Amino acid sequence: MPMLDQVTAGAPQTGTDDLDLAETGVVGVTIVWADNNGIPRSRTVPVGQFGAAVERGVGVTPLFAVFDSHDGITFGRSPLGTPSGDIRLMPVADRLVRLAGQPGFAWVPGRQVAADGSAWPYEQRGVLERQVSRAAALGLDFLAGYEMEFHLSRADGDDGDDVRPIYEGPSYGPARMLAVDALAAQLLRDLDRNGVPVGQFHGEYAPGQFEFNIAPADPVTAADRQLLARQTVHAAARAHGLRASFAPLVTLGQVGNGWHLHTSLYRAGTNLLSGGDGPAGMTADGGAYLAGLLRDLPAVVAVTAPSLSSLQRLRPGYWSGAYTFWGVENREAALRLVPATPLIGAGHANVELKPSDASANPYLALAAVIAAGLAGIEDGLTPPDPVQEDPGTWADERRAERGIRRLPTTVEEQLGTLLTNDRIRSALGEELADAFRAVRVSDAAWAADRDAADAVRSYRWLY
Ligand code: GLU
Ligand code: MG
Repeated sequence: MPMLDQVTAGAPQTGTDDLDLAETGVVGVTIVWADNNGIPRSRTVPVGQFGAAVERGVGVTPLFAVFDSHDGITFGRSPLGTPSGDIRLMPVADRLVRLAGQPGFAWVPGRQVAADGSAWPYEQRGVLERQVSRAAALGLDFLAGYEMEFHLSRADGDDGDDVRPIYEGPSYGPARMLAVDALAAQLLRDLDRNGVPVGQFHGEYAPGQFEFNIAPADPVTAADRQLLARQTVHAAARAHGLRASFAPLVTLGQVGNGWHLHTSLYRAGTNLLSGGDGPAGMTADGGAYLAGLLRDLPAVVAVTAPSLSSLQRLRPGYWSGAYTFWGVENREAALRLVPATPLIGAGHANVELKPSDASANPYLALAAVIAAGLAGIEDGLTPPDPVQEDPGTWADERRAERGIRRLPTTVEEQLGTLLTNDRIRSALGEELADAFRAVRVSDAAWAADRDAADAVRSYRWLY
């Protein structure tokens, strides 16, 4: 995805005054956050209650921190070990959007605070805000943008959880867009009206698969928009008798849905991934950022592609990034550097993280990426040479010589890399890392006596 920072959407239809909202036909405001499985959760308040919600929040159970992917409450340890307690979900009022695809509703991201209004250590948006502040203290800021792949399935006579692709090949064919013409038009219009700027939209590789990319923004905005974009897709799909699956893997053996995460970093407005004399034109700090990501990649990916469905998606040869290496425009690389060119301009250089998907909490995913990259800069790392081939086709010895490892393939390996990595664990905070571990273990226990196809199916409609 080129970093199309010149792409802007129409001004989102915002406004927080209850009366203003009601006058435009809004009857409810849905406050949304993402849990530790990347699953959006919500509360809707009647429009007349929104002002009160902005002041005092709405009460929710703290146990959302330990909900697993199948809505099991893992009852972790204290203070999340009992059904007692309450936290407040506070709407981030200046992010409110009147939803183009749901005229009766407005949407707003939520922030979770303790019952007394103080910071709550399990709050994911705050984890990202901390990393953004840490970067700012070093004189750095970031742009981030998601590519969103998804499958569209017919929902008529819905018999549950089957996927019935809206269209079979050819991949990337314009006739694919014809098959979803009215939906595609509504989606582009609604994303624009909802303030989600899109770079491009296309029919992807697999039957029924599509993709659009969201233009880059500051990290918290990028994560908010990723959540809003899902709501926009679900609403548009439903309006056209379709269902969207964002699951990392929709059907065993097929191409998965990556939500590749592009980041670039700036000092005083200059993109540090271009204009330098390092590999592919990176500056020393830009190279250190990439090297930091590479050093901590397994722990980062435990956050950016954390589910069992993610593990099933990350296979060699699928452009999903199964090995720890970087390359210049190498689509098999977990870290693909998109360098600046005279045509696309210096500002567009970015690093794409491929092992990233819908089951990641978008705030935690970006926080983990930034934490690893900043540590690389603080430690003055230099990246190894880029790999321009597919090391999945190499002998084990050749990969070993280049220090290229397979990313974790089991929950135990994932958690091992995450929990023993001080940089990423401390970015999450001890409490949140512990809750994150609890839900991963709970998901693994759920899947233990089920076959792989059952497990894939169970993630299909969650995100
Ligand atoms: N669908 C692939 C994935 O699982 C990515 C294909 C692409 O590079 O666009 O990440
Ligand atoms: Mg793609």
